Amino acid sequence: MPPGTTTLQPVLRATHRATAMGTQVAFAAAVAGIGAYAWYLRNNTTKPDKPVFSSFGFRTLRLDSTELINHNTKKLRFELPDASKPSGLSLTSALLTISFPNGRWLPVLRPYTPVSDLNEPGYIELMVKLYPNGKQSTHLHSLQPGDTLTFAPIKELAWTPNKHQHVALIAGGAGITPMYQLARGILHNPDDQTRVTVVWGVNTDEDIFLKDEFAAMANKYPGRFKAVYVVATPDAGSPHQRGFVTKQVLEGAGLAAAEEKNRDVKVLVCGPPAMEKALKGKKGTGVLAELGYKPDQVYSF
Ligand SMILES: Cc1cc2nc3c(=O)[nH]c(=O)nc-3n(C[C@H](O)[C@H](O)[C@H](O)COP(=O)(O)OP(=O)(O)OC[C@H]3O[C@@H](n4cnc5c(N)ncnc54)[C@H](O)[C@@H]3O)c2cc1C
Repeated sequence: MPPGTTTLQPVLRATHRATAMGTQVAFAAAVAGIGAYAWYLRNNTTKPDKPVFSSFGFRTLRLDSTELINHNTKKLRFELPDASKPSGLSLTSALLTISFPNGRWLPVLRPYTPVSDLNEPGYIELMVKLYPNGKQSTHLHSLQPGDTLTFAPIKELAWTPNKHQHVALIAGGAGITPMYQLARGILHNPDDQTRVTVVWGVNTDEDIFLKDEFAAMANKYPGRFKAVYVVATPDAGSPHQRGFVTKQVLEGAGLAAAEEKNRDVKVLVCGPPAMEKALKGKKGTGVLAELGYKPDQVYSF
């Protein structure tokens, strides 16, 4: 582990949460320090014998290829330094990306969750939604094969197989990527029998990606995996329900906590601030509290 690693981790976590909430300015000083640290370490931290993200530190990876997967989302595939080793990331982890788009003096830091299989050697893949005027998403969409990007690993909820009977993964928009990583990690682990329900709110039908992957999970693990889509403005003839992720939608997905079979549900949430606010409310309010979930059952990415 490189010097200074332990002390930087809480700063990075705070920064990652803050940027996700759009309060970047308040962390400008921390960000500047981290940026300097990133540039200092970018070529110095890879230990040749270990997977690249098995310990904390900044690593620079080369972009191998890109693929537009819908009207606003790109898949970016980055090469790992050792083609024979996986990334070293564990369930659930994200990567903090660091860039200086358009010659900015202060770095832009945003977390992204790899959607590639964490056991796969040689590469990682991100799915990045483009936000109008979004600093990092615009930069990432502009990258071409051969360009590089600097990353640092961030551990999220450390997943313990079979700790809960059932996990509810509630996502809005691009917040689906941590949910996909976890759902796949659970289902591909023969020692983990946790049931998984995904509820995903999007704006339009064309915002939905990973649909084939979720359908394959539902086919392969009937009774253990279910994905429910809720579309704010669905197409005429859309197979999905219209609206937002409400109490009724979650009840319809079988997620009322009062039901005996749901007493042990862990609820994970990742979405835009308005959605998280509606779900989690404040001090015992919000949709999840109304459904009977206690605060310690709920985790926000
Ligand atoms: C743990 C975690 C994992 C994530 N993984 C992914 C991922 O795999 N793929 C991915 O695309 N994103 C992911 N995100 C979101 C990502 O980190 C950025 O917040 C997002 O890309 C926007 O950054 P930006 O710099 O482009 O936009 P900014 O410059 O920060 O914001 C520009 C404008 O875009 C809009 N905007 C920004 N973020 C959101 C949002 N989340 N919802 C609605 N509107 C928004 C707002 O109108 C904002 O004013 C993740 C977030 C977290 C917390």
